[in-house]
Amino acid sequence: MKDSLLKATVYNGMVRAYVADTTELVQEACRRQDTWATTSAALGRTLTITGIMAAMMKGKDNLTVKVEGDGPIGAIIADGHANGAIRGYVLNGHIDFPSNEQGKLDVKRAVGETGTLSIVKDLGLKEYFTGQVPLVSGEISEDFTYYFANSEQIPSAVGAGVIVDTDHSVIAAGGFIIQLMPGADEEVVDKLEKKISQFPSISSLIEQGKTPTEILHLLFDEADVQIHETTSLFFECSCSRERMLNAIEGMGEEEIRSMMEEDHGAEATCHFCNEKYQVTEEELEALLK
Ligand code: ZN
Repeated sequence: MKDSLLKATVYNGMVRAYVADTTELVQEACRRQDTWATTSAALGRTLTITGIMAAMMKGKDNLTVKVEGDGPIGAIIADGHANGAIRGYVLNGHIDFPSNEQGKLDVKRAVGETGTLSIVKDLGLKEYFTGQVPLVSGEISEDFTYYFANSEQIPSAVGAGVIVDTDHSVIAAGGFIIQLMPGADEEVVDKLEKKISQFPSISSLIEQGKTPTEILHLLFDEADVQIHETTSLFFECSCSRERMLNAIEGMGEEEIRSMMEEDHGAEATCHFCNEKYQVTEEELEALLK
């Protein structure tokens, strides 16, 4: 099944809910980055939440998420576009630790518990929207919960999970973001808090074959759920040969001449998708004209 995301409102619009199956996009990103299990979980959770946040935007809007902790992963960077195109990478993909006390992938240890979570949104305005909060857990979901409460002032519950096989391949990935709109009843808040604290991990539900719609109904029981839209999420990188040549051109004549003389060409790798571009001496020469 293709990755999908659904947008819904519940309790007469008091609650906004987003549920996503991101298995394929996380599989693709982790395969390209050759990540090991703990890193796959960290990257996958970040990509999932980035995907949901991108779906909150419209038109050509896009956002960049940076998780920079003091753990061995170094940093996680993810981009999301309102059309569903998501990409991301980690600085050090070959990080894997034994499971934590709860038997889960020890994401906190890989990411680090001290650092920052930054979001930059390009909403087509003159200036970008930027928000930054300190990491509060390193487990990613809790860090985004803190971000929404403190930087966007929206009380939210964020959940994201990835299940990784013994050969480090991704089996299932997904997440949800539930947000309280202004004026939400105390009763609704209590009900939700109770439900979410006992909710099974979303990745295990996806592994069992549950769809985002079924997961949404599990989250809200008998409540009045209104599904507004189902959209798709997918891995896509915006790099191209032309962009890479532009970047080399921007390095200046001296640098290009040294590439020609010393290496008789150049090789550039895209961080996001690991695509390698070979540039010949003749192409470099053409850039100088
Ligand atoms: Zn790329």
